[in-house]
Amino acid sequence: MDNTRPENTKLENQVIIFLGAPGAGKGTQAARLATEHNLLQISTGDILRDHIARGTELGQRVEPIMKQGHLVPDDVLVSMIGEKLQTLEPVRVIFDGFPRTLAQAEALDQMLLQNGTPLNSVLLLEVPTEELIARIVNRGISSERSDDNETTARARQQVYHDLTQPVVEHYRKQGLVQALEGRGSTNEVYARILEAVQTPA
Ligand code: AMP
Repeated sequence: MDNTRPENTKLENQVIIFLGAPGAGKGTQAARLATEHNLLQISTGDILRDHIARGTELGQRVEPIMKQGHLVPDDVLVSMIGEKLQTLEPVRVIFDGFPRTLAQAEALDQMLLQNGTPLNSVLLLEVPTEELIARIVNRGISSERSDDNETTARARQQVYHDLTQPVVEHYRKQGLVQALEGRGSTNEVYARILEAVQTPA
């Protein structure tokens, strides 16, 4: 038996959370980091949109909520993520769009603890609100997302401020948050992300 390495298959585990208001670029950046670093991107927005597209029971339930820019109930998200995590070994994940409330963050902390998986990085992409609204409205021209319009974009910024900002504080208290400038070209932002994940907080 090779005794030079501790017998711990979890060594390869890597968990990164992307935080940032809607339109900050989480999805684009998380997708690139996941591809280049062999991580699984878990985008809860994409999963929910897929349910809507397939017309599942869950999709029918969440469609009106998402259309208004409100959040889907915590229990739905927590069980969705819990089930997903159980299928992964090792856990090499980028969360994009989760957790979005304090209750979700606390549930995720518990799940990772039970699994013996540390949370490595929480990256916060910062972009001024008016630029975020402009980005979302612009994205709406091609995205065909029912929530990519100015009215809903503003509602989503408010939801972020009220419900997700406490998540930032939650991880800040744990010393895990790295705040990054989210303006600039996709490549510039990606370079900041790479540097941050290589030197965790
Ligand atoms: P996103 O694609 O991340 O901007 O998410 C689009 C919409 O999906 C949000 O406005 C919410 O309605 C819903 N959603 C995505 N992730 C979550 C989450 N973690 N908690 C609650 N609702 C979510």
